[in-house]
Amino acid sequence: MERVSRRGLLRGSGLAVAGAALGAVGVVEVPRLFGWDHPPLSGGYAAAADNQAAVGSSSVHVRYFVKSWRPVVALTFDDGPAPRYTPRFLDVLDELGVPATFFMVGRNVLEYAGLVKNRLGRHEVGNHSWEHRDLATMNLPAIQDDLRRTHAVIQNKLGRTPVLFRPPFGHFGGSTVLAADSFGYDLILWDRQMHERRFKDDPAAQAKDIVDTVRPGSIVLAHDAGDKRRLTTLDALHDMVTGLIARGYEFVTVSDLIARSPVPVP
Ligand SMILES: [Zn+2]
Repeated sequence: MERVSRRGLLRGSGLAVAGAALGAVGVVEVPRLFGWDHPPLSGGYAAAADNQAAVGSSSVHVRYFVKSWRPVVALTFDDGPAPRYTPRFLDVLDELGVPATFFMVGRNVLEYAGLVKNRLGRHEVGNHSWEHRDLATMNLPAIQDDLRRTHAVIQNKLGRTPVLFRPPFGHFGGSTVLAADSFGYDLILWDRQMHERRFKDDPAAQAKDIVDTVRPGSIVLAHDAGDKRRLTTLDALHDMVTGLIARGYEFVTVSDLIARSPVPVP
């Protein structure tokens, strides 16, 4: 019945009339009518402005790539450190002498810090949450606690202080943005990514796809943990890097990419 009456209301009566009708049932009823499970104005995963104490800066940067006039690119590896692949990715990066940014999962750092501790040299470490939960479903205190634990274990086990954050799955809500702000993090996404299903067993095609499509300032998503699909990325990495170098590209960390941006960064 409710469904029928809502359709009739929206289709037959126009927005002004619909708005008046919705107003009559009160603000709390409006989100329920549209299928939301709680009011949008106080707390929860969607709220980005309900706790001014968490606001640390005038703006939060969400970056897919960084505008650049020069051919620079940032490689990023998510979800590690992990025993099966992280050391092998580091081997290739060492061989080629290029830096990357590793968005690490806190509990993996706790368990496997020894794999990377003395190998991070020119690389950057970012926060990728404690255990890869979907932060877009969590409220502000829960996300702050998650990021704080991860921030601390990266500092304590690796001696690095993250300034970048990548939300698992690229999912985030208002509470995630506010949590990032309370740590002073930039929220880093990506504009290019490895497609390990599309290029399964064809690392040359995977490398070519990246080499052909990267643009100045691109942030490339890859993973250094997980199942054997990672082999496509691992086997493509050498050709991908050398192909981009042949195109004139320089590899930098994400923070270096931001620092070199011609657009002033506050
Ligand atoms: Zn991830």
